Amino acid sequence: MGMVSSMNDKVTGIILKQSDYKDHSVLLSVLTREYGKVSFVASGARKITSKNAMNILPYTKSEFLFDYKEGKTIFRLKSATTIQLHRGLHEDLMRSSIAAILSEIADVFTYQSDDYGLAQRLYDLLDQGLTMLETETNSQLVLALFLSEVASLGGVSPNVDECVICGSTKVVGISVADGGFVCERCLPSTQATRYTPEQLKQFRLLTKAKLEHYSIVLELVDNCMHDIQLFVDFLETFFGIKIRAFPFYKRLLTIE
Ligand SMILES: [Zn+2]
Repeated sequence: MGMVSSMNDKVTGIILKQSDYKDHSVLLSVLTREYGKVSFVASGARKITSKNAMNILPYTKSEFLFDYKEGKTIFRLKSATTIQLHRGLHEDLMRSSIAAILSEIADVFTYQSDDYGLAQRLYDLLDQGLTMLETETNSQLVLALFLSEVASLGGVSPNVDECVICGSTKVVGISVADGGFVCERCLPSTQATRYTPEQLKQFRLLTKAKLEHYSIVLELVDNCMHDIQLFVDFLETFFGIKIRAFPFYKRLLTIE
């Protein structure tokens, strides 16, 4: 926010989360392409029923009207017009649990960050991820590709081309702490987990792929829960974060 001297009073953004505020108000954390993350107070929103309440649901892409005030980080919202509701994400528990992971990551990565370019790329990625999560059949693959792109965006993409210790291409496992593949000889000296050649091949493919490659990758991958867990481990290890929405998603998988 500090890098812009003036701001329009109309901005498009995606609601990351909604929390109760004083006097029946709701605090919205919104990721915008133009200004990074901003917060809006929607007055009396908790008293509004049905139609208008939909405008402030998490994951919704809306146009927000507000008065910009220099030096402020929280703005009073005048109105919100829905551009994309993502209704399907609220009607399916599995998809909504993944949407929560996507939003939390976008929230955590823009927390106290002044990197304008990063916020812009994260906005585009979240926008694309939420849309695909609603429309594509394999929600697990959408999550895997989103996580892979976030790792790449954050500069912590795993090294999946060679052993991270010695450079050998005969790899047998993955060490999160060391940043990627390891060979047989180096494995005992690391915290690496052993994987089958097929699993390593799939993780390599997903690491190199982007959300836009969804339909190509769909033909080539099997269940990608191992990969998702690995990407989460990489993100949590290298950024010192905890993705709180992830355990709930894993619990859902055990029920289905
Ligand atoms: Zn090695």
